[in-house]
Amino acid sequence: MTSINKLSDIVNNGLCIGCGLCQSVVGKDNIQISMSPKGRLEPKELKNITPETFNKILNVCPGVVVEGLPKKQIDPKTKYDLVWGYYLSLCYAWSTDKKIRFESSTGGLLNGLSIYLLESKKVKFIMHTDADPKKPMRSLTKFSYNRKELLGGESRSRYGPASPLDRFYEALNLNQPFAFVGKPCDISAIRQLSKIDMRVNELCKYLLTLVCGGSAEFTKSQDFIESFKVKEDELSIFRYRGFGNPGRMHIKTKDNREYDREYNSFWGEESTWRIHFRCKICPDSIGDSADISALDTWRGGSPTKEDEGFNAAIVRTKRGLDLINETAKGKFIHIGDKLTINDINDFQPHQLNRKKAVYARHQGMKKNNSPTIVTKDLRIEEISKLNSNEFNKKEELDILKRIEKI
Ligand SMILES: Cc1cc2nc3c(=O)[nH]c(=O)nc-3n(C[C@H](O)[C@H](O)[C@H](O)COP(=O)(O)OP(=O)(O)OC[C@H]3O[C@@H](n4cnc5c(N)ncnc54)[C@H](O)[C@@H]3O)c2cc1C
Ligand code: SF4
Ligand code: SF4
Repeated sequence: MTSINKLSDIVNNGLCIGCGLCQSVVGKDNIQISMSPKGRLEPKELKNITPETFNKILNVCPGVVVEGLPKKQIDPKTKYDLVWGYYLSLCYAWSTDKKIRFESSTGGLLNGLSIYLLESKKVKFIMHTDADPKKPMRSLTKFSYNRKELLGGESRSRYGPASPLDRFYEALNLNQPFAFVGKPCDISAIRQLSKIDMRVNELCKYLLTLVCGGSAEFTKSQDFIESFKVKEDELSIFRYRGFGNPGRMHIKTKDNREYDREYNSFWGEESTWRIHFRCKICPDSIGDSADISALDTWRGGSPTKEDEGFNAAIVRTKRGLDLINETAKGKFIHIGDKLTINDINDFQPHQLNRKKAVYARHQGMKKNNSPTIVTKDLRIEEISKLNSNEFNKKEELDILKRIEKI
């Protein structure tokens, strides 16, 4: 298998998700993240990185290594499922604040937990993702210190490219307790960094995530606005969902033209998702190593109508369990009925399929001499052994067709 010797090997082999952590490790003068013509955020080396620094990137980059929940986070009472990993609780949960519930992605569980953390002073700030107010189709990393900052923008599902870790060192350097909300790949990168930087566990108190179908390339959003003959610099709002569950994809121009389309027009048919190659081979898109993973709860995996917003929560750690219970006690969120693994499978058939397929996809890459992600404690080999040979063979071959398009 070809090894990874430089940053461009990660990018050119489709392993990069553009998280931005490498830039944060070495600084903007040395690595710059920019949008590629294919619509992905990709890092470029501006100055030669020393072998020692590159080694540090290799140890944390989610395109290189992804691991499951650290052993010391596994509570004795934790339950275990081969596909869904460790969990202390599976339940419905959503924000009790009607406005947050309505405007957030699903039911505002993640925003509700974030507000509780700020207002109970458990953390000083929330590190999360928002729209760039000047270029609303693009995302940026935000440190929110209060309710107004957290909810004042587009802190709801941003399906296009984002670099949620590009300011992670800046967050650590503030030397204040904070919580991070991001995608599962971001959480795995933080867990890896915590092994080599003690400040991570001292300061980053909570890791909250969403179950993630994948990040769509920027070209998909561009096609959306172009279908209404709108140019990017005319936009004042670009929203993927929210204002209802799922809510509509919505854009508004600076001269007040408004257009929208239903959520299923973007996410309905999996073959049109245009997600990053890294997402196709994602060994953990369910937030295996987070404290809490939030997800949608449409039976069969897709919405058939608008509803008030019902998140499910996979609570993985004791810290996550205490947080969700305290947040409910403080009346920031409502905890609904308990759920079973069968319910979660029903809500997320695409996740179940990916977890079954991903080991074979990695094997296909190895047979092609392409580097792939090193994984540990994610159960993917065990899951793959339960598949038929035909299923695994097909996944190995299909990923080779995708490799040609990286
Ligand atoms: C790329 C992507 C793929 C998704 N795929 C699935 C899926 O397969 N199944 C499923 O059930 N749910 C998926 N979701 C999540 C789902 O849409 C809901 O966001 C989830 O149920 C949480 O809902 P909520 O109302 O609690 O979130 P909210 O309260 O609206 O909070 C959303 C949080 O996510 C953060 N965020 C938004 N976009 C990004 C991003 N690109 N990178 C990092 N952080 C971000 C925001 O800053 C905010 O903190 C996906 C979301 C994204 C962004
Ligand atoms: S996945 Fe993140 S850390 Fe790895 S190369 Fe891409 S931007 Fe850098
Ligand atoms: S599918 Fe995996 S790699 Fe892609 S954005 Fe989601 S967590 Fe990250």
